[in-house]
Amino acid sequence: MSTKKTMSLTTKVLIGMGLGIAVGLLINLTNLDTEHSFIHEYLVNGLFHTVGKMFVTALKMLVVPLVFFSLITGVLGIGDIHALGKVGAKSFGLYMLTTAIAIAMAITIAATLGIGEGVNMSSTVVFTAKEAPALSAVLIDIIPGNIVNAMAEGKMLQIIFFSILVGISILMVGKKAEPAVELIEIGNEIMMKMVNIVMAVAPYAVFALLAKAIANLGLELLVNLAGYVLVLIAVLLIHLFVTLMTVFKVFSSMSPKIFLTKMRETQIFAFSTSSSNATIPVTLRTVTDRLGVNNSVSSFTVPFGATINMDGTAIMQGVATVFIANAYGVELGITGYLTVIMMSVLASIGTAGVPGVGLIMLSMVFTQVGLPVEGIGLILGVDRLLDMVRTAVNVSGDAAVSVIVAKSEGKLDESIFNDPDAGTLTDDDLDIPDDAKRDMAEMVQKTHDKE
Ligand code: ASP
Repeated sequence: MSTKKTMSLTTKVLIGMGLGIAVGLLINLTNLDTEHSFIHEYLVNGLFHTVGKMFVTALKMLVVPLVFFSLITGVLGIGDIHALGKVGAKSFGLYMLTTAIAIAMAITIAATLGIGEGVNMSSTVVFTAKEAPALSAVLIDIIPGNIVNAMAEGKMLQIIFFSILVGISILMVGKKAEPAVELIEIGNEIMMKMVNIVMAVAPYAVFALLAKAIANLGLELLVNLAGYVLVLIAVLLIHLFVTLMTVFKVFSSMSPKIFLTKMRETQIFAFSTSSSNATIPVTLRTVTDRLGVNNSVSSFTVPFGATINMDGTAIMQGVATVFIANAYGVELGITGYLTVIMMSVLASIGTAGVPGVGLIMLSMVFTQVGLPVEGIGLILGVDRLLDMVRTAVNVSGDAAVSVIVAKSEGKLDESIFNDPDAGTLTDDDLDIPDDAKRDMAEMVQKTHDKE
């Protein structure tokens, strides 16, 4: 077997990432990407844009059917409504707790460093605020009035709610529902195979996504806002490597080192796509196949986390609030900051993990505490890069909580977690086995004969 054949996907994705960043920087620093230039028209906005967009769209294509089939399979796997409630309550509690810790830490560090003081607040970008939805509206919105609509719009909480109900109802029907159980289990297996197929092109797509993103970054803006950018990235890293990993170790007693190594690929996906939602198929695969979390837990905690758990986004909101409050000379005080913490945690429940949504949530928080929403214009220019970093932190939180909850429920396969090779994807995984081809041909023939 050649080495190429056995190179794991993680290695290839890492190479794609490195090359993408290098090419993006080259284009950016040499100013090759000027309007109407060949590089701009055909490479950055042509090839890179197309390949990247096709890939992200393919990932999104997987999300709804995958969550639907895997969550029903998960409910059937748990088979007990009480246990399901426990998984729900534990993950909800941990998601809220980690998000609250994240934003509190962000505010404390940013305020201690006094970031934003003396910053010139003239901003040319206009940012319009969005009203925060009332808690009642968020709750009502969990119920899908029309499931087809919910699926078409990818409304994750509604899809989760419906899938759990379907699972419970199948359990209630019992033996008679066996064909439905089989259909759904096979549906889940087919969708997981489809994830493998889409992931196989990831190295090229990651290259294209990063080359485009880095080529388009306003590097001078990054330098101008260096204080904000550096503090934010530092807090994101502290949260990922210290806070989250301490919570992980204390609650699961599993190795943070193994967790972080196995999460690298998923983090790169999140980093390149800036969307926890689009990353769901990859997170689900990693958490289940590589970290050993039973599908009955991961099928719920992963899509649920992608929607309601956003530690990285909360950190951005904390740092941005302090930065803009200082820039505008507004004194928020303890009550103001507590409101910010509460609002950010609440806002994260109703908003999906898609690119740039953090800024919209920030505008909700600002309206609530009376900070100037136009201040968001100050940080808009650098948000593209920061969105990438915080999305990687967001998905890491989803996965860490999944492992913790699984461990506490006796649903973690520790031998999979500790096996460095478990679930790694190689080219061989994409082969269609000869006996499968033969069986399939026979089955088709049989159906023909019957007709
Ligand atoms: N892009 C982030 C995510 O999908 C959300 C945000 O912070 O804008 O998790």
